[in-house]
Amino acid sequence: MNIHEYQASELLAAAGVTVPRGVVAHTAEEAESIARNFSWSSFMVKAQVHAGGRGKGHFQDGFKGGVHLVKTPQQVRDIAAKMIGNTLITHQTGPEGKPVHAVLICEPTEIARELYLAIVLDRSSGCPVIVASRQGGMEIETVAEKNPEAILREKVHPSLGLQPYQARKLSIFLGFPSTALRAPCRLLHAAYRLFIDKDCSQVEINPLAVTKGGDVCALDAKLNFDDNAIFRHKEIEALSDPSQEDPRDLAAAEHHLNYIGLDGNIGCMVNGAGLAMATLDLLQAVGGRPANFLDVGGGASKQMVTVAFRLLQGDPSVKAILVNIFGGILKCDLLAQGMVAACHNAPPRVPIIVRMQGTNVDAGRKILKESGLALIPAEGLMEAAEKAVAAASGKKGK
Ligand code: GDP
Ligand code: MN
Repeated sequence: MNIHEYQASELLAAAGVTVPRGVVAHTAEEAESIARNFSWSSFMVKAQVHAGGRGKGHFQDGFKGGVHLVKTPQQVRDIAAKMIGNTLITHQTGPEGKPVHAVLICEPTEIARELYLAIVLDRSSGCPVIVASRQGGMEIETVAEKNPEAILREKVHPSLGLQPYQARKLSIFLGFPSTALRAPCRLLHAAYRLFIDKDCSQVEINPLAVTKGGDVCALDAKLNFDDNAIFRHKEIEALSDPSQEDPRDLAAAEHHLNYIGLDGNIGCMVNGAGLAMATLDLLQAVGGRPANFLDVGGGASKQMVTVAFRLLQGDPSVKAILVNIFGGILKCDLLAQGMVAACHNAPPRVPIIVRMQGTNVDAGRKILKESGLALIPAEGLMEAAEKAVAAASGKKGK
């Protein structure tokens, strides 16, 4: 789960990390009155979306930049008016962008150096890892590609926690003199504690600013939380903002479907995560692009199959649907009933390829046949994938 920068900033501050003073606004008037309340000499106005790269992004109407430095409350109002209600497009949002409903007004920090700091879960070593770089303000992926030695990755033993020597090592790598390690070490411990206490999957501070006075301040933060642990953090769950989510993912979550939207045009309904991933790979291998991952699971009810199938049908980017089911606990006849029910009120608008094997397959095929639905049957997996790719590109299958 993602949250906004202003929310991340509040959580970091509560954990003991220095962040710029700031207040969120939902209207341009509110933004101006916040600015008037503070006697700062200038103001940062920052569009709030669940994505990074805002500074270099642009709005749907051509207005440039999701992060602005301005001088007067009137200018705060003008910039906020341009941002709120607009859609911000960055390299992290995809071409459709994300809607802006709020802006963060904060006090500019005088930056001496910009650093990068992140804490992520490293699945290959099975522990949290702290990633640090002196090249802050840049994408870490770019640094990793062009200048990998500029990045230090420090693994933290999950039961020992961050050790003082590790915090010092990271701080020295980040260029702090050995006489000025207190501030960066405090920040590292505070950020690490937040990562553990809130079950984060990522804490990313970019840039972490070193101020002219030698202090450290988190100018921009991105927090991600482990969805499987959210039940332990109701206060975090309450920070979710559905306007920032893919509407397909929201519909799927509502029905507890194991669904992930992708950017292709072949809708996939599969049972079992392994078979679902193999299906995506196979589609890709024969030149297709899946529109989603969807594992309807072993214990799916007829109603869940119906909901899942409607979700695929309702996705405008879907040009063909591939149903790939190996009937085990989920029986083929139940699946067929679910599909027929989904098509009852909304007749299929795209070709549907069905590959079905396993428990009650004959009963399932009979239900589909008697339904009168125009389905394209397939026996083998490769055959199914090829037929789906052909159908999605508007060609007739072999
Ligand atoms: P992002 O583009 O979404 O990562 O948004 P950031 O909040 O990181 O802002 C982009 C860039 O704006 C940063 O890398 C900084 O260089 C600059 N910036 C952000 N806040 C401040 C600030 O308070 N003072 C100054 N001087 N620059 C800032
Ligand atoms: Mn940033």
